[in-house]
Amino acid sequence: MATIALDNVTKRYGETLVIDKLSLDISDQEFVVFVGPSGCGKSTALRMIAGLESVSDGQLSIGGRVVNDVHPKDRDCAMVFQSYALYPHMTVFENIAFGLKIRKTPTSEIERRVNDAARILELGQFLDRKPRELSGGQRQRVALGRAIVRNPSVFLFDEPLSNLDAELRGAMRAEIAQLQQNLRTTMVYVTHDQVEAMTLGDRIAVLAPLSRGYGVNLMQVGAPMDLYMKPKNAFVAKFIGTPPMSMFKGVMAEDRATIQIAGRSFKSPDIYDLGPHAAPGSEILAGLRPEHVRAEPRSHWVNTLDVTGKVKTVEFLGHEAIIHLDIGAEEPLLGKLTGRGRTPPRVGDEFTMVAHLERLHLFDPKTENRLPERKA
Ligand code: ADP
Repeated sequence: MATIALDNVTKRYGETLVIDKLSLDISDQEFVVFVGPSGCGKSTALRMIAGLESVSDGQLSIGGRVVNDVHPKDRDCAMVFQSYALYPHMTVFENIAFGLKIRKTPTSEIERRVNDAARILELGQFLDRKPRELSGGQRQRVALGRAIVRNPSVFLFDEPLSNLDAELRGAMRAEIAQLQQNLRTTMVYVTHDQVEAMTLGDRIAVLAPLSRGYGVNLMQVGAPMDLYMKPKNAFVAKFIGTPPMSMFKGVMAEDRATIQIAGRSFKSPDIYDLGPHAAPGSEILAGLRPEHVRAEPRSHWVNTLDVTGKVKTVEFLGHEAIIHLDIGAEEPLLGKLTGRGRTPPRVGDEFTMVAHLERLHLFDPKTENRLPERKA
């Protein structure tokens, strides 16, 4: 059973606190992605699990065994890095077999394991090639092969796809997801790319640097849809979802249900228990995802608001365009035009989009925490 448990795990480099009391339980065979902006400590957390960095405080366990003082090679983890670090003078076969060879694995066993890994990774026809005769994606698969043959109880990935171009990244992402299905091994994967996180993880742990002032690194951990539907705070709301949520500071109106944003009235969805934020004049942080602001209204939308503004930017993506509308607030309102029926506006045009206010996300402006929902 390769569970991983971080219990108040803390990391200091000298005087600098990088990770403060990180607690997280990862189940056997679970795929957990650590995601967050650069410098949030995700690689450090992964390297502590691998044993490549010491734990300053707290307890780290793998398979129920405390490993704070266990040597990396005795942790039964295999790690795949951004740089593949293949041996250029060795063939693909020799590269994949290398780790087994230095562990004095019998030759027949090496052959069996390398061939198995090559079959899973579709590298069979390349086993005699040198790394320089491979594409970037194939090299990364060799690096994966090297990890697979060790048959570890835990796989650790540190931004393994960052060096690949966008198309290959998409393809490799699918392969890693498939790999997880086939191997059923506990996997921890670090990335700064929230799309990668959303598509790969059973659960995602969103981390923030301590310098963001939340007082902890772990912002939220949950299934991808939970993070998308119910982000616990403004940081997660902005980080998960692409293009990102537009967010505005509004003020509660006299009716205790309408939030005034840049001279417009946004009716709060019924799900929230506004509590003290219902008081007229209270500030509220309100966010809307671009997919809930449309040039063409949706028939099933209720509680909608027409929002007119000046077009700041139009991003054409082929199947849709992202419109950035200046509504006189601190940031533009982003919305989508999917091309049915309306011609895309030009920069500077006045344009009206429809906001689906039932999907408004509300946060406390001080703590930035999501407002609670009404009890059913
Ligand atoms: P991420 O992987 O999220 O980009 P890292 O875990 O690499 O972040 O780093 C987290 C923070 O720790 C950063 O501010 C980084 O500068 C600092 N850091 C990382 N390694 C060291 C080190 N060896 N010495 C001092 N500070 C470090």
